[in-house]
Amino acid sequence: MATIDGLPPLRAVIAAHGLSARRALGQNFLLDLNLTAKIARAAGDLTGADVLEVGPGPGGLTRGLLAEGARRVVAVEKDARCLPALAEVAQAYPGRLEVVNADALELDWAAYLTPPIKVVANLPYNVGTELLVRWLTPKTWPPVWSSLTLMFQREVAERIVAQPGGKAYGRLAVLAQWRCSARIVMSLPPEAFTPAPKVRSAVVHLVALPAPRFEADPTVLQRIVAAGFNQRRKMLRAALKGLAPDMEERIVAAGLTPTDRAEQVSVEGFCALARQVAAG
Ligand code: SAM
Repeated sequence: MATIDGLPPLRAVIAAHGLSARRALGQNFLLDLNLTAKIARAAGDLTGADVLEVGPGPGGLTRGLLAEGARRVVAVEKDARCLPALAEVAQAYPGRLEVVNADALELDWAAYLTPPIKVVANLPYNVGTELLVRWLTPKTWPPVWSSLTLMFQREVAERIVAQPGGKAYGRLAVLAQWRCSARIVMSLPPEAFTPAPKVRSAVVHLVALPAPRFEADPTVLQRIVAAGFNQRRKMLRAALKGLAPDMEERIVAAGLTPTDRAEQVSVEGFCALARQVAAG
């Protein structure tokens, strides 16, 4: 069966290159090229942008990104077995795909791309959250990337977009929503993947805001949020005790209630508290 880019269907690619999925590498492949094109489109207009893809695997999403017009794609793949299949994709799109055989957690990926940069990935479940936290906490803001369009387990996606007051609301929500707009743009059943995982997945689209929504020192804010949610059943005054002298007074001065729990505190509230703690 012919495909839009003249390359073989993904099942044939997997068979030809012996790409049996490895659980340790979080390999759940997307084999439907219509679906990968839809995910690529969820990242917005790709023409004129460099795209970082983590974990291209057999190249389904990579092909979607290139077919949707990405200026260049830099695809970072840890599993060397995938390289021959990706080389065929690179050949079909001359000069537009660079494959880097590396662990995305170890690589200085920004050195490979020119802004504007969009990150689009069907992330390996075991490193997805770690990568997201790194992308959300660069040394300076705005970050080098302009948007992140990322597939996660549905439960993780819900934590990213969660509002205060529920169990899903925590560190990821505060980090993401402080300096980005974040929404779930697609929801996928397990059968969309090969092999099918146990749970549903979802694509989250985050756009970096030019400046944070509320003023706060990033290091202080991250310390407070980590302490608050590490002991999320405790009241703020107990969970944050020791972060600064007179903590209970600072909580009140920030307009918060010392007997509240972290999950009741809005992003704005955490930023107000970070300013009180940074005030010395
Ligand atoms: N993008 C492909 C797709 O949508 O079908 C594959 C997605 S699969 C969920 C995750 C991919 O990430 C696998 O190809 C796996 O080998 C790769 N991977 C796992 N850990 C990685 C890491 N630390 N750095 C780079 N790639 C990694």
